[in-house]
Amino acid sequence: MIKKVLIANRGEVAVRIIRACKELGLKTVAIYSEADITSLHTKKSDEAYLIPRDPIKAYLDYKNIIRIAKQSGVDAIHPGYGFLSENHEFAQACIDAGLIFIGPTPEQIETFGDKVKAKKVMKSLGLPVVPGSEEPIQSLEEAYDIAKDIGYPIILKAAYGGGGRGMRVVYDEKSLKQSFESAQKESLAFFGKGDIFIEKYIQRPKHIEIQILADKYGNVVHLGERDCSIQRRHQKIIEITPSPVLEPAVRNKMLGMSVRAMMKYGYESAGTIEFILDQNTNEFYFIEMNTRLQVEHTITEMVTGIDIVEQMIRIASGEPLPFVQNDITFRGSAIQFRINAEDPKRNFAPSPGRITAYHSPGGIGIRIDSAIYKDYIIPPYYDSLAGKLCVWALNWDRALARARRALDEFIIRGIPTNLQLHREIIRDEDFIRGDFDTSFLDNKLNEYSYKIENEVQKDIIALAISAAIASHYGL
Ligand code: ADP
Ligand code: ADP
Ligand code: MG
Repeated sequence: MIKKVLIANRGEVAVRIIRACKELGLKTVAIYSEADITSLHTKKSDEAYLIPRDPIKAYLDYKNIIRIAKQSGVDAIHPGYGFLSENHEFAQACIDAGLIFIGPTPEQIETFGDKVKAKKVMKSLGLPVVPGSEEPIQSLEEAYDIAKDIGYPIILKAAYGGGGRGMRVVYDEKSLKQSFESAQKESLAFFGKGDIFIEKYIQRPKHIEIQILADKYGNVVHLGERDCSIQRRHQKIIEITPSPVLEPAVRNKMLGMSVRAMMKYGYESAGTIEFILDQNTNEFYFIEMNTRLQVEHTITEMVTGIDIVEQMIRIASGEPLPFVQNDITFRGSAIQFRINAEDPKRNFAPSPGRITAYHSPGGIGIRIDSAIYKDYIIPPYYDSLAGKLCVWALNWDRALARARRALDEFIIRGIPTNLQLHREIIRDEDFIRGDFDTSFLDNKLNEYSYKIENEVQKDIIALAISAAIASHYGL
């Protein structure tokens, strides 16, 4: 068994991994940038090492990270999500340095990191894929031809993309040129490669994904699905398990196909297979595979009781999965809300800064994975995800009631956040009915905007009330 782990990440996910290590009796090593000296993960780990200079490059500086790992005597590295988690060269460099990379093999990361290659492989493993170009597009002329062939609307996607970046929906021929050029530019800026491919744009789909766990011995299980259709700019902000409206026959087909594909392929570690589901036809299509821990793994943990980070560590240590599919039970319903330092009123612009007041909800069925606290200053260099509120209850209706209660308890002041947006969504009749797809938020934002304006007002009232109560009791 692994004894000491370096966490090559920051923020809430670094804290999440440290927690799993502690429960397993493993020692932990954190790394941090100069912008993260006050970050929670540096305090919760047994050791923490500064990577000086550029705060953005710090978490990507893999030579330095491996050097710290060797010097501090760790035997394994967990990459979390984002940063180096899907970098096959980093995974290989860990192995070459005699360290265990907690994740799949470098070859598996490389295959699925290229969305075009991933689609080919998954197609050969029996999964339906979205119609589109079989290779990256070489020229604008080729883009016109392929788009005409499959029919508008189409979506341009970065082959090496992630986090909703490098993506453009194109509704007609005349906007193709501009979208193609801007997608290419964005892809080059974010992912270092400008490879773009084309897919048929499925209108008003649900995003449904399957959580997989697989060991080194060919044992593969699924941990159910997650409905991640509530998105802004193609990036998830609310995730739900189970999906409140997915038909059992469709669910079972997706789960069965995913497990069989991963068995055939010989995948190992945790992974997520993402699909879009056309609700009119109940046809679903593979879009990408994430070969890492996913931000929304939390809700799967709540309904299964399985610690996914613990399982990743055990798998990397060479242990076989301790359960078979039939041992896994699914109980109740869970929802995750991403608490982002961003301003929904300003097109979700990042809103770093000092947290001047912080009160997190508690009570039955609540889980908070967060890296923020009162007086913490969110640095401007990283992802806007500040924390995650997860609720669990016996069924969807009760989970909704609990989520309303928990979101109303939550106080974060000092910076704009998306808390009030979550409060609006959770009270929306369409959302409550499960009647939502990936375009839900785009269609609702105008309707919500007036109420979001009043967010600060309401927060001030809530704080004034708690201050009045405190003074009444002489606190
Ligand atoms: P997807 O790529 O399908 O959106 P996730 O929803 O799991 O997958 O989101 C992963 C994203 O999280 C990354 O693409 C990145 O934008 C973001 N991210 C990267 N590093 C961190 C971090 N330390 N904490 C929170 N989010 C991060
Ligand atoms: P990322 O790597 O950025 O997570 P994905 O390929 O997973 O990119 O797509 C992100 C989101 O974009 C999906 O959840 C979905 O909302 C939308 N999307 C992607 N491909 C399509 C498509 N072919 N048709 C409609 N929507 C799509
Ligand atoms: Mg995705």
